Amino acid sequence: MRILDTTLRDGEQTPGLSFNADKKALIAEKLDEVGVQTIEAGSACASVGEKEAIKRICGLGLKAEISSFARTAAKDVQDALDAEVGRVSLVVPTSDLHMQKKLNMTKEKLGERMAACITQAVSAGAKVEVLAEDGSRTPVPQLSCFFNSALSHGADRVCVCDTVGVFNPERTKAVMSALKREVKGGLAFHGHNDLGLAVANSLAAFEAGAEELHCTVNGLGERCGNAALEEVAAGLQYFYGEKTIALGKAYELSKLVEGLSGIRIGALKPLVGKNSFSHESGIHVDGIMKCAETYEGVQPSLVGRSRSISAGKHSGRKAVEGKLAEFGLKAEGGGLEAILRKVKEIGDLGKEVTDADLYTIAIDVLGTAKEAKIALEELLAVTGNKTTPTASVRMKVNGASVITAGTGDGPVDAAVNAIERALGGTGIKLIEYEVDAISGGADALVNVKVRMQKNDRVVSASAAGTDIVLSSVEAMLKGINLLL
Ligand SMILES: [Zn+2]
Repeated sequence: MRILDTTLRDGEQTPGLSFNADKKALIAEKLDEVGVQTIEAGSACASVGEKEAIKRICGLGLKAEISSFARTAAKDVQDALDAEVGRVSLVVPTSDLHMQKKLNMTKEKLGERMAACITQAVSAGAKVEVLAEDGSRTPVPQLSCFFNSALSHGADRVCVCDTVGVFNPERTKAVMSALKREVKGGLAFHGHNDLGLAVANSLAAFEAGAEELHCTVNGLGERCGNAALEEVAAGLQYFYGEKTIALGKAYELSKLVEGLSGIRIGALKPLVGKNSFSHESGIHVDGIMKCAETYEGVQPSLVGRSRSISAGKHSGRKAVEGKLAEFGLKAEGGGLEAILRKVKEIGDLGKEVTDADLYTIAIDVLGTAKEAKIALEELLAVTGNKTTPTASVRMKVNGASVITAGTGDGPVDAAVNAIERALGGTGIKLIEYEVDAISGGADALVNVKVRMQKNDRVVSASAAGTDIVLSSVEAMLKGINLLL
């Protein structure tokens, strides 16, 4: 099964999202690393900058083939060719609704334009995939007519686009199976998620014999987005044993795209959401600790993640005991009961109990306070409109005073970099960073939540205050202290 990733084209059509050339190049390199076969890098006709960005990706020497989106216009195809892509994704709106209301064009006229564009691209040495826009609302005979014509003019792949996300798996399978019989060429499917079925439909298309699926990382895309690459790839492997991308790198790819797009991954998002492999309830944690398969159908390592067990209102004795053991603390009898009671009290207030909170509660109850291995003594962060954000820190690391500095995209990033430098070689990574304003106004209290990882251990910590830089540093240090 081939994967065409369109994060940089359809994904970028997410309202408010625009990747600059640097970001596009970073994402393209990662997509290539995970092994997608085709990267639809953008629409060369959209702007001068877009054409240049696509050209730059074409020059990266990636294994994946690079495609540009084009409408059935000679100029669009020429723009794609000027960007030096090896493939053109030619969009042809095939439904009567689109032909009549949007293009005001007959089938015959559109067919002629499609043929001319294919000839133009193919004669310049590019391959062509024809994307039947609104294909899911186009009768099958009309689709196969367009597709067979496209193939006879030199296109090598044709794709059914469920542009408005109105297919279900049954209908997808029926349409794709019919086309499989009538169309002699590579068949692809492009699913949208308006009814939450993009991934299910993509899997149905695979069952019907599709040879390529279109996806975007994290399901980015217009309205409710496209079929999510990581979910489609995991589904293909889980249900059919069909291997596509290097799934072990899916989480890394997902976080990279989240960071560069600014579109946050929902906590409940399958595979890559914050909660996908988190457990809190007593019954589940007890099961997980006995045998992970009891409450995990998919193992977190499949997508390069680790399991996390959090303490909260629904926690049981076993979970808290297990968490404390991770921190090197042993609690039993009345001590354990007292810790559990405090954890539940915080949970009852509607608050999250981070690992750092649990640790603080435990050492308070057990009276085993140890001096923190790492403590912040001084922090200076400088930012402005004509200065590189810079931070310097003086920290106590295992009893010794260490002074380091770092620069970054902003003062928080600079402070994080300075701390990472001070800790040099601990192998601790910041894997999640979240800021909430607790109160409104410029003097808002902010709450910074972090998740930090060392090898396969992940811990959570938070800190609140009016200074976002200081709160970020405090939260990180709490997490680091738990991992050292
Ligand atoms: Zn689309």
